[in-house]
Amino acid sequence: MSPATGAVTDALRELHSRYAGVGEGELADYIPELALADPGAFGLALISMDGHRYSTGDAGAPFTIQSVSKPFVYALALSLLGLDEVSRWVNAEPSGEAFNAISLERSTGRPANAMVNAGAIVTTALIPDTPVAPRFGRILDCLSRFAGRRLDVDEEVYASEAATGDRNRALAYLIRSTGPLPVDPVAAVETYFRQCSVRVTALDLAAMAATLAHGGVNPLTGDRVVAEPVAAQVLAVMATCGMYDASGDWLLRVGLPAKSGVSGGLIAAGPARFGLAAYSPLLDRTGTSVRGHLAIGMLSERLGLHLMYNP
Ligand code: GLN
Repeated sequence: MSPATGAVTDALRELHSRYAGVGEGELADYIPELALADPGAFGLALISMDGHRYSTGDAGAPFTIQSVSKPFVYALALSLLGLDEVSRWVNAEPSGEAFNAISLERSTGRPANAMVNAGAIVTTALIPDTPVAPRFGRILDCLSRFAGRRLDVDEEVYASEAATGDRNRALAYLIRSTGPLPVDPVAAVETYFRQCSVRVTALDLAAMAATLAHGGVNPLTGDRVVAEPVAAQVLAVMATCGMYDASGDWLLRVGLPAKSGVSGGLIAAGPARFGLAAYSPLLDRTGTSVRGHLAIGMLSERLGLHLMYNP
């Protein structure tokens, strides 16, 4: 991190108090359990490449990871199968559509990218499922190594999504009907729900983003979670697709690879510099945390974090 450490702490605190009063946005309610979140919760966390942790507000409050899991499961698929094999089944083009859109290429049935639900369901399906190493066990181990501590599942949120997840099931059936995918996306969608229900904090998400920024090595534990090229591939897809139909505007204004989730988690990564996370559950129309977007956007401006900006 090039800005002085005191400047980071001051900036996080200042942004927290500046945006804590913003009451715009809605709680996600299509997964009923998510509508029970505290609309006032707001936490910010940043982790540098030397493992320094900076945080303010509700950075230790638990919530479910939701779509912020997608880049990390994509990283696992890339690690196990390689970019060429994964790309046969899920593309890397921005869809310009909402997270739950029917984003499938007309000719091949391949999802547009691994950040939208259709692509994430395929990514999850690609993770091998064997008696010795079940698919979800592999995913939970991987997410935990990115976070640097053992994570667990919020069973209430899982049950709530499993009870109401018919749109994602419909996407899985559609994928199965149109493509020659060698694995069954319909079975895998239940694992996808479980992956989305893994419990994290903003500090965990900052560690996960920092691991991607640090070339795949967790800066807190020193654990090499994925190879350097995999970390770069994931950051590239986050930069172009991580914010769904707001990805272009985000890259233009904030200038960092990022990923949002409907429980209010939001990560951004500064390659070779930092991992950043926000938690605040009031969402805008794209399903992104309103306060998180404001705070990370302003932090990028304040500290000159835009990747295309070279002073
Ligand atoms: N589990 C949620 C879903 O599939 C994740 C969506 C999100 O966070 N954007 O609908």
